[in-house]
Amino acid sequence: MEYDWDAIIIGGGPAGSTVARYAADGGAKVLVIDRRSVIGTPLQCGELVPSNLQLKELCPDVPDIDELFRTPDEAISRKTKTMGLVAPSGKKLVYPFEGQILHRPIHDRILVEMAKTKGAEFLTETRVNDIDGHNIILRNGKRISARVIVGCGGPHDPLRKKFWKEKSLNITVNFVLMNGDFDDRVDLYFGSTAPGGYAWMIPKDGGANIGIGIQTRFSKGKSLNVMADDFFEQFEGEITYRGGGVLPMSGNISNFTKEHYMLVGDAAGMVLPSNGAGITTAMIGGRIAGQVIAEHIRDGITLDQYQMRWNKQMGKVMKYSKRGMAWGNLMFRSPDWLVSTGFNSVTKPLIWRAITCRPMFGLF
Ligand SMILES: Cc1cc2nc3c(=O)[nH]c(=O)nc-3n(C[C@H](O)[C@H](O)[C@H](O)COP(=O)(O)OP(=O)(O)OC[C@H]3O[C@@H](n4cnc5c(N)ncnc54)[C@H](O)[C@@H]3O)c2cc1C
Repeated sequence: MEYDWDAIIIGGGPAGSTVARYAADGGAKVLVIDRRSVIGTPLQCGELVPSNLQLKELCPDVPDIDELFRTPDEAISRKTKTMGLVAPSGKKLVYPFEGQILHRPIHDRILVEMAKTKGAEFLTETRVNDIDGHNIILRNGKRISARVIVGCGGPHDPLRKKFWKEKSLNITVNFVLMNGDFDDRVDLYFGSTAPGGYAWMIPKDGGANIGIGIQTRFSKGKSLNVMADDFFEQFEGEITYRGGGVLPMSGNISNFTKEHYMLVGDAAGMVLPSNGAGITTAMIGGRIAGQVIAEHIRDGITLDQYQMRWNKQMGKVMKYSKRGMAWGNLMFRSPDWLVSTGFNSVTKPLIWRAITCRPMFGLF
């Protein structure tokens, strides 16, 4: 069979651009299609990622971290060295954490440029409406064919919706950018401030990204907008931007591939449920998927190699993250006084291990 492309990638966010970068680098003819006119804009993100050094610690089985994450200074707004976890009583547990707060639109634009440099082509302002066999069908009815079709369209990816029955728990999120003077530390807030989720204050250069994610089934009828406004009011500064979105929080789905279809990033549930990190995991998954596509086209390896390699690199991290989320669900659904009591010097290391996807009790 002759196809227009070796691979068509739906969505050019961190997952799609990274798949494209590595597939094209391995010699595949790749087209990325995105409905946005500028990929990465409008902003829908808290913009926090761990530094490369921190990532090496958090994801010890992922090789060549520095080769994958080459975030240039222009995409970094601020750096942090600590993270505080704030109990409903206001008590704070503070941990060392090396993080980078991004200018996410610049970050995503640079990922697109990296993929283009490797030879991938991009079609923007173009929505994929449907997938039929080896064809994707655009909103204007045009059909384009590929040997492999990759869904990187985020939580509402059309390939995932059509061919995967598995459901993910989606947490709804509201956030603002606020001008003002904020401390260097990232703070995460738990308890009834953000039922079933958490709220954040992530300092940026000259301001902060402040947000809240909840599970509506635990919010006792209070809307996210009301809860968000209550939370934002605690901070002093001028709101310059409002955004929102959804975060898939069930962990990765069971099967990333079906015949010649693959899912990567949020479409595959790669967000770490215990902390909401999805940018770096989408790129880790994207590199593996891109390399496997290239080897599939060149050497005929099967696409399910992608999932095997993911499990090897990220299987443990995801397992412990899901466990941390399950434990957090129990704790953070409790009354505020109980949650606050649970924030103490004995539980401090355990809470941190759960959030950073490590076995809470050392070995298991
Ligand atoms: C409010 C919020 C805050 C967050 N904060 C953080 C954070 O601080 N740190 C972190 O690591 N993660 C954070 N995340 C998660 C992170 O943003 C995602 O995990 C990450 O963007 C996943 O990348 P992706 O490429 O899979 O999906 P996306 O970045 O969502 O990219 C999907 C792309 O697909 C395109 N697309 C979708 N459907 C179609 C279609 N039918 N046709 C064509 N194109 C399509 C979209 O336009 C988009 O460009 C946050 C998420 C939200 C919503």
